Amino acid sequence: MDVIKTEQLYEGKAKKVFATTDPALVIVSYKDDATAFDGLKKGTIAGKGAVNNRMSNYLMGLLEKEGVPTHFVEELSERETLVRKVEIVKLEVIIRNISAGSFSKRFGVEEGIVFDSPTIEFSYKNDDLHDPLMNAYHAIALGVATSEEIETIKALAFKVNEVLKAYFLGIGVKLVDFKLEFGRTPDGKIVLADEISPDTCRFWDAVTNEKLDKDRFRRDLGNVEGAYAEMLRRVFG
Ligand code: ADP
Ligand code: UDP
Repeated sequence: MDVIKTEQLYEGKAKKVFATTDPALVIVSYKDDATAFDGLKKGTIAGKGAVNNRMSNYLMGLLEKEGVPTHFVEELSERETLVRKVEIVKLEVIIRNISAGSFSKRFGVEEGIVFDSPTIEFSYKNDDLHDPLMNAYHAIALGVATSEEIETIKALAFKVNEVLKAYFLGIGVKLVDFKLEFGRTPDGKIVLADEISPDTCRFWDAVTNEKLDKDRFRRDLGNVEGAYAEMLRRVFG
């Protein structure tokens, strides 16, 4: 594709976003930088950018085939991908199949409770406010999303969960929980954006419950790079 990278639009904690010669497309470039606890813990995970880029693109391709529209256009290199430029909906959409992390902390329950049905929650994507929990009524009242958009996002997020839960189980991995972001295309359509990777999902080995995700970094469990490499190996063989 004859699209050329132009100026950097944004540098986030895990990725950079570049404009291109096509105003409808941007290039995301995945970094090895890692942060946790609202940016308080900082580090690098060697090879993470390449793992997250390749895994995210693979999963978005899988989801497209199952009828979930995404921003994915073309993988350009190990770390760089061409995506449709969208206006990000300022919500972090979190789906949980098993209790862990902030859910366990908030409700005072152990990690590992398998839910009969998945849960959904939203956080307001706002670093200054530390991404506070937000319900659908709050999002609508504040103009973060319309009620139609919320319904679309909920349906797509649960669909993503069904597709990915089954896919990961097939490669010996429990999909514990994950965070999604959605965007609006110029014609107002909601598509899945950002990334799906060990940075944004909790993955437990289906047999041993070994953690194969960013919790190894958050909780200083060691072998962080090994966990990312293992997830890449499970996905690509
Ligand atoms: P953060 O902003 O939380 O530090 P990243 O380092 O991952 O996160 O930065 C990537 C940024 O790009 C995020 O703000 C994300 O919402 C945004 N983004 C993801 N996909 C797209 C897209 N298709 N178009 C425009 N922005 C996007
Ligand atoms: N998550 C994320 N970005 C965030 C917050 C959460 O990708 O800013 C992911 C996280 O990796 C996990 C899921 O969303 O897979 C649920 O995270 P949780 O609310 O338990 O928060 P945490 O324990 O990470 O603080």
